[in-house]
Amino acid sequence: MVCELLKEGGKEWDIELVRGLFLKQDVEAILSTPISESVAMDKMVWAKEKKGSFTMRSTCRLAWEVEAAGGNAGCSDSTKLHRAWRGTCNGILATKDSFFCRKITANNICEEHGRHVETAMHLLCFCDRSTEVWSSCKLSLPIKVLESWSFLDTISRLQICWEAK
Ligand SMILES: [Zn+2]
Repeated sequence: MVCELLKEGGKEWDIELVRGLFLKQDVEAILSTPISESVAMDKMVWAKEKKGSFTMRSTCRLAWEVEAAGGNAGCSDSTKLHRAWRGTCNGILATKDSFFCRKITANNICEEHGRHVETAMHLLCFCDRSTEVWSSCKLSLPIKVLESWSFLDTISRLQICWEAK
């Protein structure tokens, strides 16, 4: 939650915490965001709907836009998409393992399993809920993905396979 990034009193950013959690370009964007004077509670907002509520309709529309634009819709330019993708590959996802490495949590164990390290690969491919999603979708991968691979390594291997087709 955003309020966790503010110092006590909620009137200024906790600069050290923000710098510890985010990439440099994101730190600049966050710290340049003005803090509201009101004391309203944080809430999740889906930016693709006027009312801010998540809908499958807007998600499908977004997917179609991305597909039609060759993967770049939703971003003002491909540089932003590239930066976001690079950040994801470099561990920007809020996993317990990344929080543990930054000394924010006491352990890096997935709370769903209680025994596996919660890395991006674990969350996206091997945790119970993600395996349910993968098993119910019709997408088949050209190689067997291993949990020991890094996210970037996995994407690179898949890209090589897809480009070879
Ligand atoms: Zn898990």
